[in-house]
Amino acid sequence: MSDYESSVEQLASWIQASRAVVAFTGAGISTESGIADFRSPGGLWSRHAPVMFDDFVNDPEERRRFWEIRREMMPSFFSAVPNAGHLALAELEQRGKLLGVITQNIDELHQRAGSRRVVEIHGTAMTVHCLACDKRWAAREIQVRLDAGEWDLRCDACGGLLKSRTVSFGQPMPADVMREAIQLASRGDLFIAMGSSLVVHPAAGLPVTAMQRGARLVIINQESTPLDFAAGLVVRAGIGETLSEVMARLGESQSK
Ligand code: ZN
Repeated sequence: MSDYESSVEQLASWIQASRAVVAFTGAGISTESGIADFRSPGGLWSRHAPVMFDDFVNDPEERRRFWEIRREMMPSFFSAVPNAGHLALAELEQRGKLLGVITQNIDELHQRAGSRRVVEIHGTAMTVHCLACDKRWAAREIQVRLDAGEWDLRCDACGGLLKSRTVSFGQPMPADVMREAIQLASRGDLFIAMGSSLVVHPAAGLPVTAMQRGARLVIINQESTPLDFAAGLVVRAGIGETLSEVMARLGESQSK
């Protein structure tokens, strides 16, 4: 058996034995659906300085930059479809194995794959809202307005500033969302972190929280992470391919 095969066997048997799996996903699962990793070399944040939240609120030029970056980013979100990794997690939830997914991603691919409990710690890019009254618009509707040259979008109900429902640089994480993420991380006995470099805080603290509550940590990521040393298993491979292999083994053991 290769190292990869024995890792897949190990992960399948841990999932089998687990009472409650919690998944944590980062950019790596979305890149497998064709969405670029903003933090990678050549990615969005290597070409544009990020727009800080306070500047967005106070400076029309920064708002223009925000919407220009967004206009460039969104087409890949609109064309992306959930991949085998997203589908496997939705399937595990349906089978009652998985408690939920905590994600750093803002593309809603987990929900589109059928996942019901998804905690979006960086919010979502798929809706835009009024910062004053919370009236909401679908991302596609806003894209049409950006394509038509609009760049200082205002609420037609109250005149407030519109912004995507993402957590921006310099904007605090919503306290209720972080509370839910910590709660979820605390309740699992198997915590699988996928496609995240596990360096961005506070997200990087969630696997630690899970381990402190006695969970076993599994990391599936192409690159090494600062928590590899603490993981029971590290799989250096694609998420979709790995979870597909795991699901095939779980299917076999269920029919035995
Ligand atoms: Zn409004």
